[in-house]
Amino acid sequence: MELWYTEKQTENVGITCKTEKTLHVEQTEFQSMAVIDTLQFGRMLVLDGMVQTTIEDEFVYHEMITHVPLNTHPNPQNVLVIGGGDGGAIREIIKHPAVKKANLVEIDRRVVEISREYFPEISCGLNDPRVSVIYDDGIKHVADHKDYYDIIIVDSTEPVGPAVELFSSDFYKSIHESLKDDGLFVAQTESPFFNAELISACYGKISEVFPITRLYLASVPTYPSGLWSFTMGSKKYDPEAVDVSAVPGYMTRYYTPKLHRSSFVLPKFVEDLVRP
Ligand code: SAM
Repeated sequence: MELWYTEKQTENVGITCKTEKTLHVEQTEFQSMAVIDTLQFGRMLVLDGMVQTTIEDEFVYHEMITHVPLNTHPNPQNVLVIGGGDGGAIREIIKHPAVKKANLVEIDRRVVEISREYFPEISCGLNDPRVSVIYDDGIKHVADHKDYYDIIIVDSTEPVGPAVELFSSDFYKSIHESLKDDGLFVAQTESPFFNAELISACYGKISEVFPITRLYLASVPTYPSGLWSFTMGSKKYDPEAVDVSAVPGYMTRYYTPKLHRSSFVLPKFVEDLVRP
């Protein structure tokens, strides 16, 4: 018998993967969670019916949400990840020798526990001595840490449930206060094909708070439409002005210094979403 998993990405379209086995299903305090082995993408983490990460394509998202901001800041010592309980962003962050402290603030303890159990390739960095895993709401953590971080990475779920406020103006203001004078942040901001209004709204809100706002793109096959956006707000450093020749070659599979630059070159319809 063949078994298939479908994520309904919009009212009218979805992604369907042939599965080998369902390894885990549970309802946590915050969301439903499943771990599935698929034939095409390997092991997959699903939260509230939405694919969060898969073994085959996770490197794209995790490298792009981390190396772009970390190579934009000249001395990223103190880094915060909000969400990201799978640990993939942390795994990439600790490749940077400048990093002295990386805090992961995840609201749902079970995501971290399940990732440690079923996704050791992704969660492996969580045991690094520079890393602290804190179970809390990212909104509260940021409000409690003023003038503290060099970089904040918002590795959140889609804007539903506990993640809704992570896409709000008040949260972006709070992030601004939590960053040091030359700090910067990046947030995953969904698909330009399916979430155009959200991208425009986030870009507008972030521009009201940060002098430098930039959008960049990456191709993630299992995310809705396959084209994913990230929005950066920065107090001082422009990610497009980075001297890529000086960027060290970290062990990556998607991110390269050249791609750092090219990921900010936007298709016309995406440029139109963020044009004032
Ligand atoms: N890469 C993923 C994607 O874009 O599909 C996101 C990965 S990560 C698993 C997202 C995490 O954000 C979830 O584990 C969720 O529990 C967490 N999260 C949602 N809202 C949060 C909040 N307010 N504070 C901290 N973590 C939050």
